[in-house]
Amino acid sequence: MYTQDELRDIASKFVIYGDFLVAVPFGSGHINDTYQLTYDQGGVRLHYTMQRINHAVFHHPEQVMENMDRVTRHLLNKIHAERIETKKRTLRLLRTYTNQPCVQDHRGNYWRAYVFVENARSYDVLENPKQAYMAAQAFGDFQCNLVDLPGPRLHETIPNFHNTPKRVEALEAAIKSDKAGRARQVRHEIDFIMKRREETEKLLKLNAEGSIPERITHNDTKVNNILIDDLTGEGICVIDLDTVMPGLALYDFGDMVRAGTSAAEEDEVNLEKVGMRFEMYEALFRGFLSSAGGFLTPAERENLPFAGKLITLETAIRFLTDYLEGDVYFKTRRPHHNLDRCRNQLKIVESIESQMNEMKKLLKQA
Ligand code: ATP
Ligand code: MG
Ligand code: MG
Repeated sequence: MYTQDELRDIASKFVIYGDFLVAVPFGSGHINDTYQLTYDQGGVRLHYTMQRINHAVFHHPEQVMENMDRVTRHLLNKIHAERIETKKRTLRLLRTYTNQPCVQDHRGNYWRAYVFVENARSYDVLENPKQAYMAAQAFGDFQCNLVDLPGPRLHETIPNFHNTPKRVEALEAAIKSDKAGRARQVRHEIDFIMKRREETEKLLKLNAEGSIPERITHNDTKVNNILIDDLTGEGICVIDLDTVMPGLALYDFGDMVRAGTSAAEEDEVNLEKVGMRFEMYEALFRGFLSSAGGFLTPAERENLPFAGKLITLETAIRFLTDYLEGDVYFKTRRPHHNLDRCRNQLKIVESIESQMNEMKKLLKQA
């Protein structure tokens, strides 16, 4: 925990006009430590966001910041022209007095700060199809605006993040070494995954053949990474840009389907409650196409229904691998937590498979 004096001292490194009043913990993020700062600027109170970057997850904070700096500047130029008509925002990084996008404190932690986006908030769960539509539209818009980012390839802040075949290899290694002695209990799950092994290579093959391009993707397309306008319900700002990096557009869409279409939590054990709700899928699909439809290639479009299945299967593989390795990566709160999560995700995979024809029909009509 940081004291107010420490937080004030860190904040003083950023170019912010006025007097520091207070720093309070803010939001429900799991990765970084987020604070809202309040300043008195000549009788007016203004807010900023200040975050400690989790460098246990992101080993190269300076690379994260370089990506973020380039991306937010580009987005700002893009929305500048339409600002008057729309309420769209982008994260705006503050700079330090030495003109850096982040600062290291006396404990060795890295901090960054943004302008606080007012009159908007993030929601932890997708409550209805309208929100799903808005969220998917905002992430599609984000990708669309980054299609022409100039300059060198962005840093891969987590290498091979969505390389599903590599995730299968990691699972195989975990089965072989069976560190926690659990492999025998999970034969059924292993078989389910291995039956679908070939499919895990599909998108990377299309990428290698040139029909699906590498793009810039967000890679953490949860609904709480969008700020929703209090008045209009529109998604006005995509936040949490740590994992913005080279990737496939379908990964972002797939993760929205995985995380946003089931009625139950990711670790729900009553599998009757778990599955893809078609109306939520349809809203995500229509919202994403409304903003990303203009730039997607035919092969990307055609694989929209498959994307959710792939990313959900990949997530199940990651949970199962961690279970076999003795729960070393994901935080667990009960003995078979990772296995429960794996089964939950596999149930969603099954549910997607059973609705694949309808998803394809929707695609044809769009
Ligand atoms: P996650 O667990 O999703 O990885 P995180 O720890 O990386 O989250 P963020 O998503 O960047 O953290 O921020 C946490 C919360 O802080 C957000 O959900 C949002 O409510 C709030 N927030 C972040 N940046 C801003 C901003 N510029 N203006 C207003 N609120 C913000
Ligand atoms: Mg977040
Ligand atoms: Mg994050």
